[in-house]
Amino acid sequence: MSRRELILQELGLWPVWVPRSRAGAAPDGTLPSGTPAEGTRGATLDAAPEALLEGAPGSRAERIARMDWPALKEAVRTCTACPLHAGRKQAVFGVGDERADWLFVGEGPGAEEDARGEPFVGQAGRLLDNMLAAIGLQRGRDVYIGNILKCRPPGNRVPEPSEAAACEPFLLRQIALSKPRLIVALGKTAASNLLGTDASIGSLRGRLHDLRGTPVLVTYHPAYLLRNLADKSKAWEDLCLARETMQRLKAPAPAPR
Ligand code: SF4
Repeated sequence: MSRRELILQELGLWPVWVPRSRAGAAPDGTLPSGTPAEGTRGATLDAAPEALLEGAPGSRAERIARMDWPALKEAVRTCTACPLHAGRKQAVFGVGDERADWLFVGEGPGAEEDARGEPFVGQAGRLLDNMLAAIGLQRGRDVYIGNILKCRPPGNRVPEPSEAAACEPFLLRQIALSKPRLIVALGKTAASNLLGTDASIGSLRGRLHDLRGTPVLVTYHPAYLLRNLADKSKAWEDLCLARETMQRLKAPAPAPR
């Protein structure tokens, strides 16, 4: 058993639980050749017109799963795989240290993010920065911040399942490339899509989940916390659990008996 598996076993996270929707996918997010993908991740998306994907063999998800950072950024920048591309000023790829131990995942860009091309700017972004600072982290230093969706939904509505599914291969590739030790899902949309569940934040927070071998914690989205100050103390508990979990993940592996 590898060191990572030993640590995950210590945390009660091994063997890996694979969400039903993702069963059959390879650890790097690649779906086996010929596997009909869930929702819209099938023939429609195989016809995605991103210039980068044209002419490459394999399904769209497979092609994305082979990309390096520059190719992935270019594929996101030019993506037209779901209708959200039509209303965006620009796609918002993600920001931070591409080899970070921490990955924070939100929902999608709002108006300010769409204008500036960076996730979590504005008031919610400032709160996220404060949340990071509370556990000794700083945007861009050992932290990467991304979203389920790369393009802004109109009126900041919740993403349609088909839009989230179309964008999923990009986030899975970001995870495979950055190899975070811990993912923190910010809000219901991030948690639902990462974990393949419709359960409430209240029932998901406070315990560790797993995404293909990477531990996942769930907490509230900063935009929600701005409207629901009473839940800030719960978010603080979640951050403390996240800090503790990271300390355990970084601790030396137990010696074999
Ligand atoms: Fe492509 Fe994602 Fe933007 Fe949809 S939201 S157009 S899948 S990058």
